This record gives sequence, structure tokens and C-alpha cells, in this order.
Amino acid sequence: MIEVRAPHTGERLGEVPVRDAEAVGDAARAARTAFAAWSERGVPARVRVMGDVLGALIRHRESLLDQLVAETGKVRGDALIELTMLFDAMRYFIDRTEALLADEEVVPHLVKTKRAWISRRPRGVVGIISPWNFPLELGFGEAVPALLAGNAVLLKPSELTPLSSLEVERIAREAGLPAGVFQVLTGDGSTGAALCEVVDQLTFTGSVAVGRQVAQVAARRLIPCTLELGGKDPMIVLRDADLERAAAAAVWGAFFNSGQMCMSVERVYVEAVVHDAFVERVVARTRALRQGIDGAYERDVGAMTRQAQLEVVEAHLRDAVERGARVVVGGQRAPGLGESFYEPTVVVDVDHSMALMREETFGPVLPVMAVSSAQEAVALANDSTYGLNASVWSRDRALARRVARAVHSGSVCINDVVISYGLPELPFGGDKDSGIGRRHGPGGLRKYTVEQSVAEDRLGLRSEPHWYPYSKRTMRLVARATALFGGLERLLRR
Ligand code: NAD
Repeated sequence: MIEVRAPHTGERLGEVPVRDAEAVGDAARAARTAFAAWSERGVPARVRVMGDVLGALIRHRESLLDQLVAETGKVRGDALIELTMLFDAMRYFIDRTEALLADEEVVPHLVKTKRAWISRRPRGVVGIISPWNFPLELGFGEAVPALLAGNAVLLKPSELTPLSSLEVERIAREAGLPAGVFQVLTGDGSTGAALCEVVDQLTFTGSVAVGRQVAQVAARRLIPCTLELGGKDPMIVLRDADLERAAAAAVWGAFFNSGQMCMSVERVYVEAVVHDAFVERVVARTRALRQGIDGAYERDVGAMTRQAQLEVVEAHLRDAVERGARVVVGGQRAPGLGESFYEPTVVVDVDHSMALMREETFGPVLPVMAVSSAQEAVALANDSTYGLNASVWSRDRALARRVARAVHSGSVCINDVVISYGLPELPFGGDKDSGIGRRHGPGGLRKYTVEQSVAEDRLGLRSEPHWYPYSKRTMRLVARATALFGGLERLLRR
């Protein structure tokens, strides 16, 4: 059994079983049985059920918010944003499933005697493994498109935050999702590893190290696998940026969810001429933040969910200070609030010799580095094994777009942070070690299907020679066509 505790109070919230390989195998068998009926229900029926599930989740939002706050130690405002993102992405997919799954006609560019289209069918049982920082958005949120596409889903939530997913499983069942179609399997890494062995497709969100292990199993089993991994997102502030807005965004982007976000602002590169003015604004805004947990929306920054992560934060800061960095605000556990609260912290005089600028800190720390030019900022931004999100700040839109294009990341925001994730029509995912594959966007649903390409003879249009046995007439035709192409190519190249 795993004991679940509130990170900010230590209060015991409950206990959940660690599902072993046998239990995971049983769940997969039940999921396969449920899949047969669910996939045959047809898209309109599935869309109706998922619409009912969304309605039920919205009705239960207050208890879900309570649960999220309790098991993560995030402030209620952060939990509300998580739920809102989940509901919005659900609505996006629910409204588009019919169009996205309809047969897609393609027009052959050459072989006009054929009709062609792509049809999509669900894959079977999808395994989703999720982390603790956004338990519902990254867990059930990823299950939604898989379910709409007609799959059954087994979800393995983080061992730190399984309760909200269990609550959603209960609500979804009551709202009409058939038994076995969506099952939450609680447990630790061993449960996740067992899950990887029994499903037809995997979506993993978590650390790079575990992502590599999951990818190895997927490779051995030859099943598709999406990996949403870590980030070290850079923010580039150019000399003509709106500094007030950039500072506000840096503070929100770095301290939202206590910095425990794959696409947090983890490092800032600011042109030296505006460095001091930018830092001054960032520090003033950071000092104004109210830390702690209340039952309402009167606090800005909560606790850290995972003790081990807090120790990473402390180690990164220690290393940075030893190498010459200066903490201008924060830099310690918040006095009087408890062991799991770390003060929002701003650090200057940093460089790339420091872990703080190279490794994922995943906590409420904002390091700011002065650079001499946009080129230097881009070079430093790209000096990373990660490439999830980034942001570029300038009043010159053309310049900002050029800089954005030069940054190696799966997404980028211009004069904003994080918001690319908030637009569910945009694919989201990583470059480099930040992952493989995408969530959101049309592909976020279609990836949960097998594409079947269909080529149909337009019977009755005209009869054609069959290939075997080759006839002289057929081969003459092909030879003539090839010669014609050759001539055309030469003409086009001129
Ligand atoms: P983690 O990799 O430790 O765990 C993630 C999940 O994998 C958990 O449910 C865990 O129980 C499970 N797991 C552990 N070992 C496993 C194994 N051998 N096989 C299968 N499953 C296993 O990550 P975490 O600490 O829970 O989450 C933090 C990380 O997640 C950070 O690196 C963060 O950047 C990343 N993250 C990425 C995104 C994204 O969309 N790119 C979003 C949020 C978090």
C-alpha cells in the first residue's frame, strides 16, 4: 500500500494499493473486453458520453479542486488553472472528434484512375503514465482523446498524487463511461513498468531518465510511444521589450505551480542594457507574492509537492552561489510555513557553468543572466539538452519572430509565456531530450488511431492493362510516361 499525504501539512489523505503485474494483466484483459463494445459504439455515441463526463467533472469542480490542493500542496488558483485547461482541452477534442476521425479523401496527383482516402480506427488499449505536478491535466487529460478515438485506457498516476485520478474515474463511471473502458491503476514505478508490457500504445509524461526506460520497452514491443519529458525553458528579453509585461510574465512563468512545471521559465537571458531595470521589476513583483495555502484565492505560491525535488532546488542554488551567483530575493525555505515551502527566489550573476542554468530545477527559482546581444541569447538558449518551450520578448515583431525561429524548442511564445500550451489547437511536445511526439492539436487525437490508407479502383471509368504478365503495350506506355517526365523535369529546372 502507498500512503498519500498532503505535502504542506503532512496530513494523511488516504492509502492506495500498489497494483502488481498480475493485477495490471487482469485490468488489461478487462480493458480489452470493454474496448470491443466501446469502439463499436460509433463516434457520435462516444462524443455524447464524453460530453456527459465533462459536464459531471464541471459539476464536481469544487471537490476536485479540494483534492488537487490537498495532494499537491499547490494554491487553489493554480489548481483552478489546471482544471480549466483540462475542461477546455476536453471541449476542444469533443467538438472535433467527428471531423478528425471521418474518412479523409486524398486526391492522387498522378494516378487519376484511383480513388483514395485515409480511414482511422482505434488502436486498442492505451497506457498512460503521468507525473505529480498536474495530476489531472497530464493524466485524465491525456486519456480524453484516446477514449474519444475509441480506445480503452489504463492510467497509472504518480504515486504521490493518485487520489484525484481515482475521483475522476468514479465521476466518469457515474456519468456513463462504461466499466473497464477507463481504469486507474495506482502504484509506483513497478506498476508503470508492468503497464508498459501489456498495452498497445503508451503515452508517458515524466522525467527523461524514466522516459528512456519506457521508450526501450516500447521499442522492444514495437508499440507507438509518446514521451513528454523535462524542460529548461529559456526566456529571451531583448532591449526594446515591454519590461513591465516581461517582468510580470517572468514571475508568473517561474513561480506558477511553485515552478513545478515542465514549461516553467527556468532561465532568463536579458540584454545587458536593460538587465538592471528588468531585475528591479522582477524583484518588486516577487516580493509582493503571498505564499501559503488557504481555502480561497488569497495566496499566489504554494508548497512543493515532492521533498526530493526541493532538495534539487537547494543543491542547484548552493552550487550557483558557490560559483558566484547572487540571490536577490528568497533563497530559503519559507520561515513559519513548513518544510515543504520554498520562497520564490530570484538569482543574478549566473552563467552556464552552473547546474541552475543547465539542469531542470523544477522549483520556484528564476535565474537571470545578462547577455550582449540577441545572438548570444539564442546561442545560450540552445546550449541545452532540452527543448520544450521558450519565449522571446521584443516590441519589434519581425525581430522577435526571427529569434523565435532560431530557438530549438517544440514551441515558443512571443511576448508571452507558457500560453502555447493553453491553445489546444497547437501541437505541444519537445525537441531534443524534451520528448518525442505531441499532445493537443489534431494529431493529439489521431495519434490514438491506426491509419488505414485505402486505394480503390474507379471501376467502369476505363479499363487498364494489368501488370502481370507484362504486356508490350503496358511497358511502352510506362516508357513513354517516364520519357515525358524526364522532359518535363528538364524544362522545369531551366
Ligand atoms: P518520473 O519520471 O519520476 O515519474 C513519472 C511517472 O512514471 C510516475 O507515475 C512513476 O510512478 C512512473 N514510473 C517510474 N518508473 C517507471 C518505470 N520504470 N516504468 C514506467 N513508469 C515508471 O517523473 P515525476 O517526478 O513524476 O515528474 C516530474 C518530471 O515530469 C519532470 O522532469 C517534468 O519536467 C516532467 N514533466 C513533463 C511534462 C511534459 O509535458 N513535457 C509535463 C509535466 C512534467
